[in-house]
Amino acid sequence: MPVYTAPKKDMQFLLHDVLDITNSDIPGYSELEVDFTSAVLEEAGKLASEVVAPLNTVGDSEGCTLDNGVVRTPTGFKDAYDQMKAGGWMGLDCDPDFGGQGMPYILAIAVGEMFTSANMAFNMYQGLTHGAYSAIHAHASDSLKATFLPKMVDGIWTGTMNLTEPHCGTDLGLLRSRAEPQDDGSYKVSGQKIFISAGDHDLAENIIHLVLARAPGGGEGIKGISLFIVPKFLVNEDGSLGERNGVTVGNLEEKMGIHGNATCVMNYDEATGYLIGDLHNGMRAMFTMMNEARIGVGMQGYAQAAVAYENAVEYARDRLQGRDVTGPQNPDGPADPIIVHPDVRRSLMDQKSFVEGARAFTYWGANLIDQAQRSGDNDAEALISLMTPVIKGFQTDKGFEMSVQAQQVFGGHGYIEEHGMSQFVRDARIAQIYEGTNGVQALDLVGRKLGADGGKPVMAFFEIIKSFIKENDGNEALKADFLDPLKSASKDLQAASMYFVQHGVKDPNNALAGSYDFMHLFGQVCFGFMWARMARASLDMLAAGTDDTDFHQTKIATGRYYMARHLPATTMHLARITSGADKVMALSPDAF
Ligand SMILES: Cc1cc2nc3c(=O)[nH]c(=O)nc-3n(C[C@H](O)[C@H](O)[C@H](O)COP(=O)(O)OP(=O)(O)OC[C@H]3O[C@@H](n4cnc5c(N)ncnc54)[C@H](O)[C@@H]3O)c2cc1C
Repeated sequence: MPVYTAPKKDMQFLLHDVLDITNSDIPGYSELEVDFTSAVLEEAGKLASEVVAPLNTVGDSEGCTLDNGVVRTPTGFKDAYDQMKAGGWMGLDCDPDFGGQGMPYILAIAVGEMFTSANMAFNMYQGLTHGAYSAIHAHASDSLKATFLPKMVDGIWTGTMNLTEPHCGTDLGLLRSRAEPQDDGSYKVSGQKIFISAGDHDLAENIIHLVLARAPGGGEGIKGISLFIVPKFLVNEDGSLGERNGVTVGNLEEKMGIHGNATCVMNYDEATGYLIGDLHNGMRAMFTMMNEARIGVGMQGYAQAAVAYENAVEYARDRLQGRDVTGPQNPDGPADPIIVHPDVRRSLMDQKSFVEGARAFTYWGANLIDQAQRSGDNDAEALISLMTPVIKGFQTDKGFEMSVQAQQVFGGHGYIEEHGMSQFVRDARIAQIYEGTNGVQALDLVGRKLGADGGKPVMAFFEIIKSFIKENDGNEALKADFLDPLKSASKDLQAASMYFVQHGVKDPNNALAGSYDFMHLFGQVCFGFMWARMARASLDMLAAGTDDTDFHQTKIATGRYYMARHLPATTMHLARITSGADKVMALSPDAF
């Protein structure tokens, strides 16, 4: 059975030594003192390791069941969910006006990483609820907020997001679900939604579906769509549950992974719904949920790689095969542990440097979200909007790749189910697909985000990197290993952006054919920047005489590995991008 240990020390390092959150002027950050975050992470880590993680393989093997229209989650999920609820974990960063604890998002993402590594399928019930909470909080009327939010914050009710229909996933302009206005101001929502995560289950008393549908007068295409709250049970004036609404589960999907999460076909048959956000402008409201969800999915990508890596290290220390070519390390045993072999070490370094780089990048992103939301900083808002497709797309691609590498460390024992490595790979795979496929993230990055506001956010990002390099100019310990490679990678990113400006307008295919490489190039530069910042923080700690020299020296060595072995990928991505669309589009569709 796989193990999970929460990486509290690395989290504390990022929060305090790298991001220095306590000294930030973001409202709420001054409360996040070292002892406080340590206590929160300790408690969450315990729950994740002792209660949630042991249910991961149970969820995978049992899956959810649908019996007479009732969905049941795997054995133990309800009890674990109740413990999460009792601990107040659901409302950690939610608005105190609705019963939340009002903590910054950065703390919620650290805690969320733990529960996701421990059991991704399980944590999705809570994750989707949080997304629905955010959309309602940002766009619903006061009375709808008062009706729905307190119970969602407490976890008594959960939430879902309903976009996808059988004939439309990426292209939501094709959406057919309808909403007919009623005299009392509500709507009757009808249509079929598919692939709805946490669509139905036995963990909560009510399920609050957020549903995209067309109300009359909105016209065709993406612009005419509106967003509705459709509860599974109607809610009486006094807050008690009323009659069952017109929404049922048509089927449970059989799928590759996340078996513990119920992926449902949902049928809406004149179900009572309440409009949130502006009529015919539902995509705007849904985007509140989707942006947050995309950061969350980017976190899922590395959270799976993190737990897979932890288990791969354990295995590599135990498994005896072959001898160290430089001389036996375990002379009394029949062979040396496989961790002595350079190729196994390469794989573990790949995994470690990815996981820690991704954690830093995600926390930096969460920090920007707090800055945008709590301080009303528009520049931070623009920057996180630019970064969101990178966090989602790059991290889930690499997260899957690194989960596969962790599985590979087990040889054949990784392919069979006994060690749980196959589940990490299967579970990690979905993160590349949902919340907009990674191909669509790349399109969003190049087609919308790059040119947003005349390119100001991307220019601001280049300036941030330039300032960091300048600020650390005289630091010889950083220069050759960190600053020079970062400068070179950043130049590649600027050259790729320039290529799109010069050639993408003339022929949009030039931009679109290079978009996926651009997303990866961007991700590499962000990781390079994060590693340079982490190295700087560790060097500072060493210079200040920290007791924890091992941690910081390991951090710097891991960063050097990333800069030397991964960052050069930017050159390859740039070469691919500047080769243009011709080679990509050379064959006609029937030549394949
Ligand atoms: C397990 C699971 C859980 C899910 N949970 C939810 C949920 O809770 N709520 C919800 O609403 N949906 C959910 N989804 C749906 C998911 O978000 C969609 O499957 C996804 O957005 C892709 O849509 P699609 O499957 O229709 O693929 P399509 O849109 O048909 O895309 C097929 C392929 O074409 C590519 N493509 C499409 N358009 C373009 C374009 N313009 N340019 C370039 N490439 C393009 C895509 O990248 C993809 O590779 C879930 C799906 C799964 C499998």
